[in-house]
Amino acid sequence: MITIQGKGVSAGVAAGSLCFYRHAKSEVARTAVSDVEAELRRFRSAQEQAIGQLGVLAEKARVQAGSEAALLFEAHRAMAKDPDYEGAVETGIRAGVNAEAAIADVCGRFVRMFAEMDDAYLRSRAADVKDVSNRILAILTGTAQSGIESDVPVILAAEELVPSEVIQLDKSKILGFVTERGSGASHTAILLRTMGIPAVTGVYVGPENEGHELIVDGDTGTVVFDPDEETRARTLKKRDEQLAQQRSLLRLRGCDNRTKDGQSVRIYCNVGDPADTRAVLENDGGGIGLFRSEFLYLGCDDFPSEDKQFAAYKKLLTDMDGREVVVRTLDIGADKQAGYFGLPKEENPAMGNRALRICLERPDIFKTQLRALYRASAFGRLGILFPMVTSVWEVREAKKCCEQVKRELKEEGIACSDDVRLGVMIETPAAAVMSDRLAKEVDFFSCGTNDLTQYTLACDPQNAALGRFFDPHHPSVLRLLKLVADNAHKNGIRVAICGELGMDMDLTETLLAIGIDELSVSPRCVLPLRRKVRELDVGRSRGRILAALADDREPD
Ligand code: PEP
Ligand code: MG
Repeated sequence: MITIQGKGVSAGVAAGSLCFYRHAKSEVARTAVSDVEAELRRFRSAQEQAIGQLGVLAEKARVQAGSEAALLFEAHRAMAKDPDYEGAVETGIRAGVNAEAAIADVCGRFVRMFAEMDDAYLRSRAADVKDVSNRILAILTGTAQSGIESDVPVILAAEELVPSEVIQLDKSKILGFVTERGSGASHTAILLRTMGIPAVTGVYVGPENEGHELIVDGDTGTVVFDPDEETRARTLKKRDEQLAQQRSLLRLRGCDNRTKDGQSVRIYCNVGDPADTRAVLENDGGGIGLFRSEFLYLGCDDFPSEDKQFAAYKKLLTDMDGREVVVRTLDIGADKQAGYFGLPKEENPAMGNRALRICLERPDIFKTQLRALYRASAFGRLGILFPMVTSVWEVREAKKCCEQVKRELKEEGIACSDDVRLGVMIETPAAAVMSDRLAKEVDFFSCGTNDLTQYTLACDPQNAALGRFFDPHHPSVLRLLKLVADNAHKNGIRVAICGELGMDMDLTETLLAIGIDELSVSPRCVLPLRRKVRELDVGRSRGRILAALADDREPD
C-alpha cells in the first residue's frame, strides 16, 4: 500500500480499479495494403458497428431527451450508410491505402465540400461527416471514443484533462478521478464538482498502474495505491457516512433559504449540460443561475447548429418546468478552447479574445446562438447573460443583436417570449467599477468571482507557485462585490454570485451582509448551503461585517 498526498479538487471518496485515460488519437497512420478485399471487409465491419452504436445512441437520446435530440444520431447513422461516403472510402481502399487513411481522406474532402456550401443546413453536415468518420476510425484503431476502456465504473487517471474531454466522458463509468496536473480553479475541476465526482490532482499515476486498486479522497487530497483491508474498510465506511449525510440533507428539500432573522436568498445552480437539470431538481435548486453554454461547443468538433442548440435550451427550459433558467452566451477562450474556432494562439488567452469579445467580432456565431435561445424562450422563463463585459458599449451592441434576432424571428412567424431578461456578468474589475452605469442597461447582474478574483488580484489561479498571493477572500474582491450590490439595488435590479466563491460557506454570512440576492452553485451544494443560511442571523452580524470591510480588517 502506498499513500500519496495531492490536492483535493472535488469532494468525496471513491475506491475502485484504475483506468488510464487515453487521449483520442488525432493522427491517422497511412499504410499501403496488398489484400484489398480484406481491408474492405475491415472497413465494412467497422462501418456496421458504428451504425449499430449510433442506433443505440439515438434510442438513448430519444428516451432521455426526446425525439428532437435523437435526430442528431439519426443523421449520423444516415451519413455512415450514405452511398457516396461509403463509395468514396471504398474507392480509396481499392487504390491501395489502408481503411483509416481512406476514411481520413474522404472525411477531409467532404468537410471541405460541405463547408463551402451556401446553405446553412448543408454547411452543418460537415460536423456530421467528422463525427461519423471519427467513430469508424475509433473502432478501427481500437480507441474507445469515451477514452475509458472498461465496462465497469473505474477510477480514471490522466496526466491532465481539458474540459472538452471531460464533457464527452461517460459519467456513469467514473467513480473518482486523479490527475498529475490541474488546479481546483480549472473548468475541469468545476465540471467534476458539478458531476459530484471525487477528484485529486498533483499525483502521478501512469498507464503502468492500470488495473491496480486505488482510493481517491477528494476531501483530504490523498490517493492510496493498493490499499490494505483496513484502509479499504475505513474508506467504504467514510463513503457510507457521506451518503448518509447527503440523505439527511434531503430533509431540507422544500424548505426556504431564509436566515433566522428573515433574510431570504435564492439558491440556484450552475450547470453545463442539459442533462444536469436532474441533479438541480433532485437537490431542490430554485432555478439555473448559470448554464455555461460553451460546453455545448466544446462537446463537438464543429460549431453546433442553431437546431442542435435550440434542442438543448428547449430541454433545459422544459425540464425546469417554469423555474428560471439563465443561459450565459458563449464564453470560449482561456482554458475553454475549441480548435474549430480557428483562433490564433495568444500569449495571454485569459486577457485575450474571449467570450463576448468573440461574439461581437463574429456576429454569425453570436446570432446563431441568440436565435436558438429566443426560439427556446417560448418554452419557459429564460434569462440571457453576457460574459466578460468591460464597457457599456459592448452591452448595448449585444442588446442590439438580441433585438435584431427577435425581430427576424417574429418576421418568420417563429414564437418567442417577450419577457427574456438580460444580464451582465460582473467578472472584470472594469465592470464592477462601472456597475452603476451597467445596471441601467440590464435586468440583473451575476458576479463571476472566478475571473473577478484573478483579474483583481492579477493572479493566475492555475499557477500553484502564487500560493498565498491568490486569496479569494481578499478584501478588494469583497469590496467590489459590495459596490456592485449597492449599484444594482440603487437601480432596482438584483445581483447574483455564480463563481465558486458562492459555494464557500466561510463567506456565506459576508455575502448575505453585502446584500447578494442569489447564490448560484453546484447542484450538490444547494442543500448544505441552505442549511448554512438557515443557521445565520445576518441582522446581528451585518454591522460588524460591513464595518470590517470598510476598515480593511478581516471580519472575525
Ligand atoms: C466566473 O468567472 O466566476 C464564472 C462563473 O465564469 P467561468 O465559467 O469563467 O468560471
Ligand atoms: Mg468567468
